[in-house]
Amino acid sequence: MRIAAIRTHLLGSPLAHPYESATMRFDRRAHLLVEVICDDGTTGWGECLGPARPNAAMVRAYAEWLIGQDPLQTERIWTTLYNAFRDQGQRGLAVTALSGIDVALWDIKGRHFGVPVSLLLGGRFRDEVRAYATGGFRRPRGDPIAETAAEMAAHAAAGFQACKIKIGFDPAEDLQVIAAVREAIGPRMRLMIDANHGYDPLEAIRLGRAAAEHDIDWFEEPVVPEQIGAYRAVRAGQPIPLAAGETWHTRWGMEEPIRTRAVDIIQPDLGGCGGFTEARRIADLAALHGLRVVPHVWGTGVQIAAALQFLAALQPEPLRHRPLDPILEFDCTECPFRQAILTRPIGHEQGVVRIPDGPGLGIGIDQAALREFRISDS
Ligand SMILES: [Mg+2]
Repeated sequence: MRIAAIRTHLLGSPLAHPYESATMRFDRRAHLLVEVICDDGTTGWGECLGPARPNAAMVRAYAEWLIGQDPLQTERIWTTLYNAFRDQGQRGLAVTALSGIDVALWDIKGRHFGVPVSLLLGGRFRDEVRAYATGGFRRPRGDPIAETAAEMAAHAAAGFQACKIKIGFDPAEDLQVIAAVREAIGPRMRLMIDANHGYDPLEAIRLGRAAAEHDIDWFEEPVVPEQIGAYRAVRAGQPIPLAAGETWHTRWGMEEPIRTRAVDIIQPDLGGCGGFTEARRIADLAALHGLRVVPHVWGTGVQIAAALQFLAALQPEPLRHRPLDPILEFDCTECPFRQAILTRPIGHEQGVVRIPDGPGLGIGIDQAALREFRISDS
C-alpha cells in the first residue's frame, strides 16, 4: 500500500449568531480536513487546528514527501515531514498541517488492520468518557452575565457535569459572569474558565484570586503562550490550577511548560501538537512530571473522533485501583457542519460520550455534507 494522493477539504459556514473569545471574533466557522488516499483505495481523514486556508497550503507543501510512501510507517513519515521544514517550521502552521496528516495516516493504519486507532496506541482503558461543555463565548452587544448563565444552565439541564466559559475580556465583568454562572449551575457542576490569553499576568493573578471562591476547576490560558515564565508567575500568584497547551507544539514546545510546571493541566490538540505520533510523547512527558492531560478539541467531528481515540488509550495516571478519569472537551457552540460531516454524529448522553470502536478513527465521512460546506480554497 502506497500513498497516491493528498486532498484538502476546506469547509466553512457563516454563523447565525456571531460570537467572540477574548482574542477572536467568529462570524463564520472554517476548518480544514485532510484526506490521504492510498493506491488500494484506503483513505484516512485528519483535521488541522487553526486557520483553514494557510493550513491547506501547508498540507499541500508536504505532498511531495508523502506520495509513494508506505502510510503505515507513521513515525518515519512524521520525521521526514518535520525535517522538511524544520529550519522555519518547528511550531505553528508547519506543525498543525503535519498534525492533520499524521491523524489521517493513523486512520489509514487502523482501517488497514481493521482495528480502532486506540488499539494501535496500546489498547482501550475506557469505552466512554465524560465530556465537558465548551461555550460561554460573548455575543457582540449581548448581556454576557445573563446569557452565559442561561447557556450553562442549559448544559446542566442536558446532563453535563462540567462546563467551560470564556473570560479574558474585562476582569470586573468576567468576575460577574463567573459568579452568575456558578449561581445558575449550582455548587456541584465542575466549572472551568478560559481567558484565551486575554490578560496580562497581574490581571490574571487578581482575577484568579477573586474567582477562586466560585470553585473553579481550572484557569485556561490566562496569559500569552510565548511567556512561559508568566505562566509560572500566575500559577504561583493565585490558587486556581492552570491549564494550557492548545498553542504549544511538539514535544519540544511542551517540554518547558511541563518540566517547569508552568501549568497543572496540559492540553495537546491532536490536530495541532503533531498528531497521535507526538501527542503520545507529550502524554508521557506529562505523566513523568505529574500533570493531567486534557486534549484540546476545536473543529469538526474528525477532531472529536481523534481526541476520543487518544483518550481511550490514555494510561490512567496515577496508577491506582480507582483511577482518575480523563475528560473530553465537547464544543457546544454554533458550527453548522461539525457533526453534519459525519455519517453518524458523535453525541453525548447525560454528558457522556461513547468512544467509537470501528476501524481507524471509527467514523464515516458524509460526502454530501462535504460538498454542501465546501468553500473556495483561493
Ligand atoms: Mg482554550
